[in-house]
Amino acid sequence: MRADLHTHALSSSRDSRMTVAVLAEAASAAGLEAIAITDHLPGTDFAAAERECSERGITLIPGREVGCALGHVLVFSTDRGWLAALPPVVELPLVGDRNGPVAFVWAHPAGWRVGGAMAPPEPSRGASFMHGIEMLNGERLWQDRGVEIARSLCDELGLAACGGSDAHDAGSVGRCLTEAPEASDALSFIEALMAGAVRPVLSKRWAAANNIDYQRADLIGSLE
Ligand SMILES: [Zn+2]
Ligand SMILES: [Zn+2]
Repeated sequence: MRADLHTHALSSSRDSRMTVAVLAEAASAAGLEAIAITDHLPGTDFAAAERECSERGITLIPGREVGCALGHVLVFSTDRGWLAALPPVVELPLVGDRNGPVAFVWAHPAGWRVGGAMAPPEPSRGASFMHGIEMLNGERLWQDRGVEIARSLCDELGLAACGGSDAHDAGSVGRCLTEAPEASDALSFIEALMAGAVRPVLSKRWAAANNIDYQRADLIGSLE
């Protein structure tokens, strides 16, 4: 199963230009099997999102994007109530009552701005809690050495590489994906993330539809 693991919708991501319905429609148009909604703020209506997705045959993987000492972290769980209540900034590891497994992915590790300056990745701030690293982030594919830095962090830390669009508008949905060959639903996708049984995929289909030709040797390995 392939999923866009990083998308933002209104109203729990105020910087998004998509409602959940628009996001689900864009995912359907892009031919996606699954998407994660990873809002910045608490309150995502996962039940409504699930309806919009399942009407279109898309699996919803409940998620959040939270800030912590490490930078931005994507959190995935089937415990929607627990996820929806997470504050925007947390301290790792997340403790508290929750049901089922939780997967953590270090989002855009080379792209965390603090007061205008780029904060260099500092794994000692909590990378030991991560299961994967977002090597392909749709918003930052063109960032200087971002993909390379993420890839070497994966090697250094022994973590699986992932991909997500970081989509805030319909046209960006589906550009970067994560493939979990064994997964068939949200729970098995989360388990695959935890086991490192995933890989990043840069969507050739999205690139062709948007007339983008990636002349980038570092991306060729993940274009499909
Ligand atoms: Zn982020
Ligand atoms: Zn994001």
